[in-house]
Amino acid sequence: MMNGKISVWILGDQLLERHPALVAAEAAVGREDLRLVMVESRQRTGKLPYQRKKLVLLFSAMRHYAAELRRQGYQVDIVQATTFAEGLRQHVLSWQPVQLITMAASEYAGRRWQQEQLASLLGVDVKILPNTQFLIGQIDPFPDLAPGKRVVMETFYHQMRRRTGVLMDANGQPEGGQWNFDAANRKPLPKGIQPPALPAFAPDEITKKVMEEVESAGRGLGTVDGFDLAVTREQALAAFDDFLANRLPAFGPYEDAMSSHHRTLYHSAVSPYLNLGLLEPLELVHAAEQAYHEGRAPLNSVEGFVRQVMGWREYIYWQYWRHMPGLIEANAWDAHRSLPSYFWDGQTEMRCLRHAIRRALDTGYTHHIERLMLLTNFCLLAGIEPMAVNNWFLSAYVDAYEWVMLPNVLGMGLNADGGQIATKPYIASANYIDKMSDYCQGCHYDPKQRTGTDACPFNFLYWNFLLENEQPLRANPRLGNAVLGLRYLDEEERRRVRDQAQRFLSETA
Ligand code: SF4
Repeated sequence: MMNGKISVWILGDQLLERHPALVAAEAAVGREDLRLVMVESRQRTGKLPYQRKKLVLLFSAMRHYAAELRRQGYQVDIVQATTFAEGLRQHVLSWQPVQLITMAASEYAGRRWQQEQLASLLGVDVKILPNTQFLIGQIDPFPDLAPGKRVVMETFYHQMRRRTGVLMDANGQPEGGQWNFDAANRKPLPKGIQPPALPAFAPDEITKKVMEEVESAGRGLGTVDGFDLAVTREQALAAFDDFLANRLPAFGPYEDAMSSHHRTLYHSAVSPYLNLGLLEPLELVHAAEQAYHEGRAPLNSVEGFVRQVMGWREYIYWQYWRHMPGLIEANAWDAHRSLPSYFWDGQTEMRCLRHAIRRALDTGYTHHIERLMLLTNFCLLAGIEPMAVNNWFLSAYVDAYEWVMLPNVLGMGLNADGGQIATKPYIASANYIDKMSDYCQGCHYDPKQRTGTDACPFNFLYWNFLLENEQPLRANPRLGNAVLGLRYLDEEERRRVRDQAQRFLSETA
């Protein structure tokens, strides 16, 4: 056993049931001589105009986590301070530990600060344990990978499946004989189908107090009204169980569908809890796998979910650490337009964007296809400056953190990283949106028109993007066919596309 007292700093997005720093500290000095500290930093949560529901989720989940640890007999300080440094200093002054143990932050700047400044700022020994919130870090999918070598998501995902054995048969082959069920998973939502609503969790006294504080701070997006998210691990598990029972079976076929009537369709919507540490990736993946083996969900749905958690989410985190800090500067398409003002109020006649933006501002959530094929698709076609788009997502979404948004928005959505993360720009005209949603019915614009008064902006912006970037796009084997479509545009039509795109962009900037 160690002599002296220990502090354990638990970050707000590391609310793990068995936090490694807590386990290590207890093993070193026992429960009596350790104290946990959590800091609500005004500077950090005021960095951007954050979604109020996100702030409620974060602070309420932290305070519930502290309450649960106190119930288990731990001493816990929750400190409200201007900065993390100030809050930790206050704690260190009163508790006088010989060492502070923490887990590495999931974000680049925070981790660098922990590693390079924290010990000298506090004047105590600091021990930083590896981050266990992701499978990456516990499993290295490519131990011999050469630095800078490009790995596409599909390769990464196969390797994660092999290394964990998830959805692998006894012969080491993917369950069902194939890795990918995309062909069965790209259906629009049929008319008249009503997906089940998400479970709602009524705010308790802790959450109500946080809601009052966030509201009275007078800053941020949206409103605290209607807050009904899970704020404890128990509630987050209940939310996930509800997904397994009621939505997972139909998740696969409709995972790319978009609807003006349903915000979450058959999605799990557990990313806010996963990204806070209330849920852990492997337990979700194993539970979905078990649902398949017990005949409660078909393979295409279970594989689609496993792909999201063990494929995309881990790949994104892995790529974030491979490409930081350079990712912040990425702007391969040289995009410099400002974010249109309707991203902050939803006042646009584009019905699809209006719905997606208002959902994001009101609830902090839209599912991944609305993020990719509406919001970032539009921003890429319109040449919006990548970090402006990134910061909008970081502000508006309840599940947004830098490690997920930078690679998702700059890499996958805007292709600003030169194709390191996604091998093609995800661009689409109104044709895709019309096929996968009901948005175009009743829209001010006509999804069939390329140019003219009623033409859908997604159309002339799409063709304008192809015209402007014909050479680099032609060189991409995954986009060659799209560029070939340019041969059907005569000079007059090309001029009309360009003129209308320029007019639209200058009017909406
Ligand atoms: Fe969106 Fe265009 Fe369809 Fe309107 S017509 S909903 S702007 S894709």
